[in-house]
Amino acid sequence: MGYREVDMRIPLSVSDKELKQIIGKKECLKNFTYQIILKSLDARNKQKICWQYRIGIQSDEILSGQPPTVEEIEIPHKKYSQSALVTGSGPAGIFCAIVLAEAGMKVTLIERGDNVHHRRMSIQSFESTGILDECNNYSFGEGGAGTFSDGKLTSRTKGISAYRNYIFKKFIDSGAPAEISYMTHPHLGSDNLYKITTNLRKKLEDLGGSVLFNTKLDDLSISENKIKTAITSTGSLESDFFVVAPGHSSYETYKMLIKRGIPFQVKNFAIGMRAEHPQILINKAQWGVEKLPGVKAAEYRLTAVDEENNPVYSFCMCPGGTVVPATAYKHTNIVNGMSLYQRNSKWANAAIVAGIHPWELTGNESTPIEVLEWLEKLESLFYSYSNSYNAPAVLIHDFIQNKSSQSLPESSYPFNLVSADIHQLLPAKIIKTMQTGLNYFSHKLKGFESGVLIGLESKTSSPVQVVRDKELLYSGYKNFFLAGEGSGWAGGIISSAVDGIKVAQKILTIAK
Ligand SMILES: Cc1cc2nc3c(=O)[nH]c(=O)nc-3n(C[C@H](O)[C@H](O)[C@H](O)COP(=O)(O)OP(=O)(O)OC[C@H]3O[C@@H](n4cnc5c(N)ncnc54)[C@H](O)[C@@H]3O)c2cc1C
Repeated sequence: MGYREVDMRIPLSVSDKELKQIIGKKECLKNFTYQIILKSLDARNKQKICWQYRIGIQSDEILSGQPPTVEEIEIPHKKYSQSALVTGSGPAGIFCAIVLAEAGMKVTLIERGDNVHHRRMSIQSFESTGILDECNNYSFGEGGAGTFSDGKLTSRTKGISAYRNYIFKKFIDSGAPAEISYMTHPHLGSDNLYKITTNLRKKLEDLGGSVLFNTKLDDLSISENKIKTAITSTGSLESDFFVVAPGHSSYETYKMLIKRGIPFQVKNFAIGMRAEHPQILINKAQWGVEKLPGVKAAEYRLTAVDEENNPVYSFCMCPGGTVVPATAYKHTNIVNGMSLYQRNSKWANAAIVAGIHPWELTGNESTPIEVLEWLEKLESLFYSYSNSYNAPAVLIHDFIQNKSSQSLPESSYPFNLVSADIHQLLPAKIIKTMQTGLNYFSHKLKGFESGVLIGLESKTSSPVQVVRDKELLYSGYKNFFLAGEGSGWAGGIISSAVDGIKVAQKILTIAK
């Protein structure tokens, strides 16, 4: 049995059944099996938009070659007498806990919010009453920040294929569509994430792990230069290893960790607003037509720099999605985006953010706490502008011309949009960089300037980063690990999950 890989451009109208016939004809093969390795939409020539495939073919009619071996992560299995306590059930926390439990360690996972079912009910109640539950919202609760999201699984981190294979297998075993393993832009959609979240938790419990909902980490007690106990909202929990994976919204957790001597540093981050357009406008700009057969909705990714070389870029684009009120705390306004697997809403949205070093906003040598407090104030300012979860907004062409908008378009955002003078809200430097970027983007994508900007978008990256031991990844104490987006070393579902797994692997090298 031989093997070879071929690249093929396939018309959009071709079905899976027809694909096999095309492969056979093109490769002159009668009996063969095939596997899709990569599939992406090639829309470079709008007259000839097609799928680009890389296909691996196995057949007796092929004389040589072998399929590549699938890279796997190493999980050393043994009987461990020591235990681990993991805080946070987002991608970093759940994958860290699953790897530790698979290896044979006793693991307890605590989560400040409730299970994903109750979390969803709290979100629905927030959107209909305006009353926010600070433990169950778009940022907090089972599954973490990305549960009600587009579930994009792309990551720019290099050298993680073994980790990606492990994570994707777990997702597929938990109900994700198999295509995530070969699409170049894989995504899950919020509807799939809901069931995947539940199934990953069941997996952890089947491995012997315990999960405690409605249990918030409030403090850590330390003696003999080690963390001894986690003080939680439901009591104290002892353990040998402590992994905290709180995401980057958990301000009081950051402050507690800094107070307990966990070292942090300030780093570059980005802030801005979320742009929303009719999806049809984006489809026409990218494809030249309103719809393509068998393709859900057009995406975009835009980047630019201003005259001083400050970056401005689109982030976390949600085709066929909705803009959501993603705040974790009362009386603050933050937006983000989500979509269902079918990506079939009539809107497209994406963060448009400008990169900056926090010291340019807060003054040289500001401490991590001062930077976090600056960000909290900004998030409150966006709330106090409307005195509600109604979001400050402006049309892109008005924003570029330093104007407020006379009227605003219909939006997917569940609360109202309020026409705002953004100069009263965002720092001048951020506005200037965003204006340069938006001007450029409006030349790249036809009609982009007609969209609306909705604010605030402050969670694309964290302004602080934990200081880690380079070899073993612990921070401050040899049995304490900060994992995922909250560590400042990861951002997004995949890189946070990878970070959680790497932390678990380090613990397994030192645990008895
Ligand atoms: C609406 C939205 C859409 C997004 N879309 C995408 C996307 O499409 N693709 C992508 O890659 N990324 C997306 N992201 C970002 C992504 O969700 C995060 O990067 C990722 O979830 C970070 O994983 P994490 O495990 O580090 O933290 P989180 O997912 O934030 O999880 C942290 C968990 O810890 C819990 N917690 C916090 N503090 C405590 C405490 N003191 N005690 C107990 N529990 C605590 C929280 O309740 C939460 O469940 C999106 C985020 C949002 C909000």
